[in-house]
Amino acid sequence: MDISYGKSIAETLFNLYKNNDTNMVNMGDIFAMIDNSGVRRSDPRLSTFLGKITENFGQPAGEDLNSFISNLNADEETFYKLLDDNLVLLYQIIRNDVVIPDWASFTEQVTEMFNKCKTNQGGEVASYIPQLAAYDPDLWGMSICTIDGQRFSLGDVNTKFTIQSCSKPFTYAICLSELGNEGVHKYIGQEPSGRNFNDLSLDPSNKPHNPMLNAGAIMSSALILQNILPREGVAAKYEFLLKYMTRMAGNEVIGFNNSVFLSERENAYRNFAMAYYMQENKCFPEGTDIHDCLDLYFQSCSLEVTSESLSVLGATLANGGICPITGENVLNPCAVRDTLSLMYSCGMYNYSGQFAFKVGLPAKSGVSGCVLLVIPNVMAISLWSPPIDSIGNSVRALQFCEELVNVYSFHRFENLNNLVTQKIDPRRQSYEEKTHGSLTLFFAAITGDVSSLNRHHLQGVDMTICDYDGRTALHLAAAEGRMHAVKFLLETCRVPPSPQDRWGHTPQEEAFRFKHDEVGRFFDNHLK
Ligand code: GLU
Repeated sequence: MDISYGKSIAETLFNLYKNNDTNMVNMGDIFAMIDNSGVRRSDPRLSTFLGKITENFGQPAGEDLNSFISNLNADEETFYKLLDDNLVLLYQIIRNDVVIPDWASFTEQVTEMFNKCKTNQGGEVASYIPQLAAYDPDLWGMSICTIDGQRFSLGDVNTKFTIQSCSKPFTYAICLSELGNEGVHKYIGQEPSGRNFNDLSLDPSNKPHNPMLNAGAIMSSALILQNILPREGVAAKYEFLLKYMTRMAGNEVIGFNNSVFLSERENAYRNFAMAYYMQENKCFPEGTDIHDCLDLYFQSCSLEVTSESLSVLGATLANGGICPITGENVLNPCAVRDTLSLMYSCGMYNYSGQFAFKVGLPAKSGVSGCVLLVIPNVMAISLWSPPIDSIGNSVRALQFCEELVNVYSFHRFENLNNLVTQKIDPRRQSYEEKTHGSLTLFFAAITGDVSSLNRHHLQGVDMTICDYDGRTALHLAAAEGRMHAVKFLLETCRVPPSPQDRWGHTPQEEAFRFKHDEVGRFFDNHLK
């Protein structure tokens, strides 16, 4: 970063937080501010900051880090030295320039939803292999990771479980990132199949229907083996997958459950049948060894995650391929876009159509009871509870997704013109968006476009908003002599009739000044 710019940020922070009597900043206050934003103290992006603190002040052995920090005070010079490498993130946090600015209200509401779903006793734990059947049906965890690395977790979020079919979007995204669109779509289709996830069928051009079903995911494994790393041994190919997943998970828990792997392989008659069927139909890249290919598929299903790490994996998708907590660009953004499209249409087994309709977000579900929900450009939510319904989706997770979009306007089509919604939008509004809203409102007022004014009004736009000169839509409509627009603003929107611009002019004065006497007189009824 430019040194003088960095210095001025650090100065601003110092002045904002310093104690005027001691001229020192308490580091506990800085960390409290970080905590409130939802970013964790343990976030890898803050590791240099933390490291410098312990190094600089010498943390006594055995003392808890948090209480150690709350007693630390830094003078100006030390403060600059400590912050140096993490200024950008800290400055972002201080300005509360994060995708969900009111983190406290958001997490409070989400907690209510989580607790509501906890009482749901529907569904059965998957029992096709003993390792899955052994899970306690009461387990229920939920983790959120936003594109700015804001984190929130509730329930059983550190218990490991196998990722199962939630691996499918990731193996597909890896293939797309490495081989490009054509290299993948020669072998895998993009169409919902309308059939069971493990159905023995191919699309009309003899390709697996899509990569979210078993056949398509077995093909993703074949592409990793045969087209991405053709010359490596199988161990190197597995390591390649594991490393990729670990990078997407920001180095959080990605393990491997060998018992599940062995059990999956032992009970995989259907997957073997599918692979042979694809071989018979010459679907695979030349030279594919279907046993290696199935092994890699079972291995990808047997990767172990926690609800926490799964949320980071998902947030990398939500963030266009950049892992939010490490800042590493792991996946090509076009690959992510294509993966999300198929999660949207095919990610929830035979419930995918209804899920897209009701929840309106890309998601993927796995037989271990996990669901990964992605809100593009906002966050990922991982949900895990072993009891699943007859279609294969976790019952509590499904309920949670529906509760979420009943409260928040996250459904992809919730923002349509003319759609009046009472739902909450917790996302930060960008300057551009706000400015765009006011610009279109002002144009509607200038041109007297009452139906556009009406649309703004219905969408909850603040009709009293003013520009830099203090001029409101009412000023503009009056100055242009737009009687219907003035009437609409005064009588339907009930905006205050005499706001003053920076020169002290009211809308009525503007109407007379530009010789729109009828409009000017109309104000008289509203100014009594
Ligand atoms: N290992 C499972 C299979 O291939 C994955 C099932 C799933 O999560 O959909 O049958």
